[in-house]
Amino acid sequence: MSIKVSKISKVYGSQKALNNVSFSADKGQIIGFLGPNGAGKSTMMKILTGFIKPNEGNVFVDDIDVLKNPLEAQKTIGYLPEHNPIYKDMFVREYLQFQASIFKVDKSHIEICIEKVGLIEEAHKKIHQLSKGYQQRVGLAAAILHNPTVLILDEPTTGLDPNQLVEIRQLIKDLGKEKTVLFSTHIMQEVEAVCDRVIIIKKGEILVDKKLSTLKENKQQVIEVTFNVQVDQKLFNQFENLLSAVNNQENTWQLTFNSTEDMRSKIFDFAQENNLKILGLTAQNKNLETLFREVTA
Ligand code: ADP
Ligand code: MG
Repeated sequence: MSIKVSKISKVYGSQKALNNVSFSADKGQIIGFLGPNGAGKSTMMKILTGFIKPNEGNVFVDDIDVLKNPLEAQKTIGYLPEHNPIYKDMFVREYLQFQASIFKVDKSHIEICIEKVGLIEEAHKKIHQLSKGYQQRVGLAAAILHNPTVLILDEPTTGLDPNQLVEIRQLIKDLGKEKTVLFSTHIMQEVEAVCDRVIIIKKGEILVDKKLSTLKENKQQVIEVTFNVQVDQKLFNQFENLLSAVNNQENTWQLTFNSTEDMRSKIFDFAQENNLKILGLTAQNKNLETLFREVTA
């Protein structure tokens, strides 16, 4: 087992940040740790990486008892803390050399990591000269320098622009091919794009722990479609697997189907048959979205 958290509770003063949290992860999983601000994500990660102690419970990483042997455990853990605390006045290589010396890592490994995170072109610059996305890459490079088997990334995509987001998500996916990754986010779409599994946490308690594949088996499909004219609701009755049709605004309908087949092409046929034009058509993955809203609302 790569990660094993059992019955962790953490209290700050009178406030309970984590309440009896348990989960475990096999090798090679990418887990999205999803929850609103203040849910306890960072606290859990600091405990997992041995930086703070819980009031109760046990944590094992790669079968090492983190509470008893934090330094030993940290050798197998790569950690990118929230807000990526890097020394921005340093050059990229200089910073990574500094980190490598702390971890007692062979300096030859630095270039491998620079390549892995796509930093070759920027590695001669000072960190503050880099865009936020590239600064995140420096943080990721530092986290994987000692070749850890488990990666703990605390909101690695917060504050990135849309292009950087896509790049860092892809990088996390690539790293996940050889490592167990736990990363926190409050963006549900991020979990869908990157993870095998989602753990939703709120007010210090785990509310959902599911593989994304089981969420996708849920057959409900929601499609929002805008026609050029108003459509009589009765027309939709020809869809046998229609669960509901809601007229959101003027000519826009939210149609919910019970189907694993992509209903967009059927709606296109429907429009043609009824002499309608489609001005907009989007399929939503209702499953994770509704789940997140239901449990965190
Ligand atoms: P998240 O990372 O999900 O936003 P945190 O783990 O940072 O959540 O925080 C969980 C709760 O614990 C919050 O209510 C936060 O205010 C509180 N908290 C976190 N760190 C401390 C601390 N050092 N002292 C007191 N309260 C804290
Ligand atoms: Mg946090």
